[in-house]
Amino acid sequence: GRVQWQVRLTGAHYQISVVDALDDIPARALQACPDVVVLCNTDMDRLVETCRAVKAIGSLADAPVLLIGPEATPAMRLSALMAGADELLPNPVSDAHCLARIRALLRVSDARAELERRRSTAEEFGFCEAATPFDRPGRVALVARSRTRAMDWRDALVGKTRDRIEVLGENAALATAENVTAADVYVIDIGADRPDEGFRLLADLRARAETRRASVLAVVQSGDPDAAVRALDLGASDLLPDDFEPRELALRVKAQIRRKQEADMLTVAVEDGMRLAATDSLTGLYNRRYAMTHAKRILTEAATQGRPVTVMIGDLDHFKRVNDTLGHAAGDTVLMEVANRLRANLRSPDVLARIGGEEFLIVMSETDIDRAAAIAERVCAMVAKTPIVLDDGAKSISVTMSIGVAATDPADPLGGGLEALLDKADRALYAAKSAGRNQITVAVAA
Ligand code: GH3
Ligand code: MG
Ligand code: MG
Repeated sequence: GRVQWQVRLTGAHYQISVVDALDDIPARALQACPDVVVLCNTDMDRLVETCRAVKAIGSLADAPVLLIGPEATPAMRLSALMAGADELLPNPVSDAHCLARIRALLRVSDARAELERRRSTAEEFGFCEAATPFDRPGRVALVARSRTRAMDWRDALVGKTRDRIEVLGENAALATAENVTAADVYVIDIGADRPDEGFRLLADLRARAETRRASVLAVVQSGDPDAAVRALDLGASDLLPDDFEPRELALRVKAQIRRKQEADMLTVAVEDGMRLAATDSLTGLYNRRYAMTHAKRILTEAATQGRPVTVMIGDLDHFKRVNDTLGHAAGDTVLMEVANRLRANLRSPDVLARIGGEEFLIVMSETDIDRAAAIAERVCAMVAKTPIVLDDGAKSISVTMSIGVAATDPADPLGGGLEALLDKADRALYAAKSAGRNQITVAVAA
């Protein structure tokens, strides 16, 4: 057996370590957690026992485990799953079947590893919070060929999970997916009769953006390895022979829900991190880095379409005094309030960002210079008009802002790029400061 397995898996270009007993597992295999653990034994009890032992080894606990053993009865499969195995295949098993299973297990661990990599990169860059587990029930969609069959499946799950179970007709599975959030797990039927419909549904679920990341548990006819191989290679996350005991369905669904929720959790952590990376934590406006990158893109696009782009740079007047007389915390409150006023008073500018301590950038495409000047006047008045309340109303302070406005040159829309445009706005801002502050200056055409 051993040599045969070694040949088989090496032939498929996997790097493998073969051991006779768990104590023989080389240290390096324990350090770099294997992607899949395959256990072979003709004795079912030994197999289950070894599987438990593998799962108890810290560095192997997350590795998927494939058991190869005696011809499995539903009860044996159940005990394998309960020991933490992902699947039990009978020996001898065809290369095709065994390798398709391993590929499916690798697909899952690769996807997980990739997400984990992205998360830890994000974390290293300092823009990713630790992922927090969801505490929401999962959603399981049952798509059986007949309603009776779906109801049988439902009965197998009811009471064994707190997940929401929905029984869908085949088309409903897809129709629903278009409109509402997809289910976490789809249990689909690839029975003996009309298996092609089942395969098509599987391929469809995998192809659609809404359901691509869902788990698909395919119920295949027991003892039909060809169907199993095809389902696995079409992207089924897991298989269930149709002679299953109710608890097997519940266990497999549970494992898929766990996997899907873990993937979702990592995805959310990365997406939240990206959002945080683009924003300024004090005011919630975009930060300088994001604003510059995005403004460049706006400028290029507007230039190719012959549309104008205007920018405003607003800088609070004598802001140092606010900090000096009232303290840094009061200064922060002022910055937050000014940011809120900008947000509330600008109709969806393309970019509204804090690009420096008390300096704000507003980018507006499709706004000509005269309109931009009027908007800047309004912003200037809006900052100065109402004093900003501090210390829960105990104090308030009036602040003013100077603003420099500049627009791209219609004759040379790209000009010197974003830098030149911001430079122009900066010089206008400086002019406004020199002229006495609390006012706007429009840059003259270059
Ligand atoms: P001017 O009218 O010429 O712009 O005068 P100014 O005092 O506003 O300009 P200056 O650039 O000399 O000072 C800006 C001050 O903004 C200095 C710094 O203490 C303060 N500042 C920068 N970032 C923050 C921040 O995040 N929070 C607080 N509270 N203050 C900040
Ligand atoms: Mg200032
Ligand atoms: Mg400044």
